This record gives sequence, C-alpha cells and structure tokens, in this order.
Amino acid sequence: MRPVARPVCPIPQPRDYHAYLESLRLVFGVYCSYCERPDKLDVEHVIPKSRQPALELEWNNLLLGCARCNRDFKRSNNLSRLGYIWPDTHDTYHSFEYLVDGRVKAVIGPAQVEAKAIADLVKLEDSKHQSVLNLGRRNAFKIAQYMLQSYRNGHASLDNVMVQVQQGYWSVWMTVFVGEPAVVAALIDPQYFPGTAVQYF
Ligand SMILES: [Zn+2]
Repeated sequence: MRPVARPVCPIPQPRDYHAYLESLRLVFGVYCSYCERPDKLDVEHVIPKSRQPALELEWNNLLLGCARCNRDFKRSNNLSRLGYIWPDTHDTYHSFEYLVDGRVKAVIGPAQVEAKAIADLVKLEDSKHQSVLNLGRRNAFKIAQYMLQSYRNGHASLDNVMVQVQQGYWSVWMTVFVGEPAVVAALIDPQYFPGTAVQYF
C-alpha cells in the first residue's frame, strides 16, 4: 500500500466532493489508495461521509478508491481513522509484506494490528478464493520478475520498466526491484508516481 504525502488543499471551496476527483488524481496519481490498481477511481472518504457528514468536503479526509475497495468492502464500516493505518498518515509500504504467491501479510511490529485492520477493511488479502487482487498481484510479480531479469541483462531500460509499472501494484514492483536503486528512485519519483511519501524510503 503506497504511502502518500498530502499537499495543501488545491480547491478552497468545492461545490461538492466530486470536484476533488481531478485534484486527487493529480496529486496522488491514478491509482487506488488501497489496492494500487488504476481502476475506475472515485473520491474515497477515509471516514465515511455517512458516519461524519461534516467531513464530506474535508480535503484531509479524501483519498482515491476503486469500486472494489471503496464500495464493495470498505463501505461505511469504519467509524473513524482510529485502529487502522492509512496511506496518507502512515508508512503503509513497510507495514506489509507482498509475497510472490499474491498474498499480503501485515509485518510483525508496532503497527501490525492496525495494518491487519486496514487490510481486513478493504479485503486486501483475498487469496483464499484466488480472487481479483491475489491473481493481479501474482501476475504483477511475474511481469516484474521478468522485467528485473531483462533490466539486469541490459535488454530493458529504466523507461521500459516504468512503462510496465503503470499497470499498477506499486508495492509488488518495489518488492521485486528492492536491489535496484535507480528503479526504486523512479518508483518514488513524482514524474511516475505523484505524491509518494518519500520520507519513508
Ligand atoms: Zn482498490
């Protein structure tokens, strides 16, 4: 789960929360804040607007969510931010381990319980039924590992790698390319992934 750094609010007085969609896409990149897929994104209220209507237009309460993470699973199931880690306030990358078989595990440590809670909330770990994210991550691992080999033997350039990365699953690419500083630097470069919280890397 790519951590992001939130800039100041770009629209002081929006008409409604949909007005923020384009700004969110610009500052955070066109990826779901939870599953990291570039898939039918909408404005996602971290604290659901049904729980706290006063936060409906609050910039600091908004991320990007795909329909799967936002509508199918998260819905209005959290009362507040407490008890979870969030991509705009925590180091959500180092809180999870992404495995080649598509599974995601909360890393053992001080934030383990909260990491597990956010993973459960958006059903990040759907491997039991080999569902969409598990299959997507496994596929991303295969492509990333192939690109790593090609990159190391000189058959793929950094740009070639970054073209493939745009398909999503940023954390999988970070995991596979961890030993390649130039690619890691590109993965946190705003040119490719706007808004990544670089202080964690
Ligand atoms: Zn998603």
